Amino acid sequence: MGGLKPYIASIPKTEIHLHAEACVSSVSYHRLMDKYDIPHDSKTNKLTDFSKIKSLKSMLESFYFVQSFFREPEDFLFVAKDVVEYAKRNNIYYIEAFASPSMVLNRGLISFDGMFENLVAGFAEARKNTGVDVRLIVDVSRSFGLENAMRNLELLIGFLKRTSTDGIIGIGLGGQEIGHPCAEYETVFAKARSEGLHVVSHAGEEVGPESIWDAIKLLHSERIGHGTSATMDPALLEHLRDTQIPLEVCPTSNVITKKYVKRYSEHPIRPLFDYGINVTVNTDDPVLFSVDLNDEYDTVATELNFSRAEINRLLRNNLMATFMPENEKQARLKKLEAVLQD
Ligand SMILES: [Zn+2]
Repeated sequence: MGGLKPYIASIPKTEIHLHAEACVSSVSYHRLMDKYDIPHDSKTNKLTDFSKIKSLKSMLESFYFVQSFFREPEDFLFVAKDVVEYAKRNNIYYIEAFASPSMVLNRGLISFDGMFENLVAGFAEARKNTGVDVRLIVDVSRSFGLENAMRNLELLIGFLKRTSTDGIIGIGLGGQEIGHPCAEYETVFAKARSEGLHVVSHAGEEVGPESIWDAIKLLHSERIGHGTSATMDPALLEHLRDTQIPLEVCPTSNVITKKYVKRYSEHPIRPLFDYGINVTVNTDDPVLFSVDLNDEYDTVATELNFSRAEINRLLRNNLMATFMPENEKQARLKKLEAVLQD
């Protein structure tokens, strides 16, 4: 540990772009393998070989493979437990995490309610016992078409009406960006907004700036997941700066999936930040990418020369970009200012 790492580790943090299923630890999936007599073979061992992930497509394959270990609703308690462990390891007190029901429902073993009852209960329990607060965003998914996404939203609306839980706060659009433009999901997002749900969307991760424009103009996305290709469009840069729509930047994820970023030192978070855009730092898929949030900040500091003051700005941005109730956010901001040292 050198440079700013000990400092970064000491600051209580928030995270706003994290896929809950991609936090599942090897201990948990080995337990699930034992539970279901899944053999330890070359395919399952692949899970620990992150060098196999070379693109968003192969990342999604690994993600679906992890999901295939979940066969009973209670298995999602492992997910909740591992997200909270990840949070504690990184001194994170608040997370807005995606959970993706599409593949789970398509397999037919677990219902939407079964999946989310356990996730919500697991996180509520953790909130009580550890103080770590994890709120969920349902990834309606762009990989399986409009009908699937709308079904996920309708299941969510029914679930919220029945349970009146505050553990789920919105919807997101993840999955294959190429061939599945935001425009196709306009009706889903309009319906979600009319239900008072927060809406966010991945965009500009592996498609050009037009994807980010669509997320803003058609989906009215409150934040943009990644937004990496924004640098290719001066008018978009200006718009992002003027509106201060937060970008959920995930440096390691972009370097691993290799679409627009070949190495950390070339990551656009530096020019985006310098231009005055509201950027935040996140991990996306910590276990799949073998990265912690503390590492991400440290990488930005060392590879892209973010000073302590600039790191502080990123930490503030992340908190202010959350969907926390305003009074709670202001109280947290006060606490954060008290521990930051410029
Ligand atoms: Zn993501």
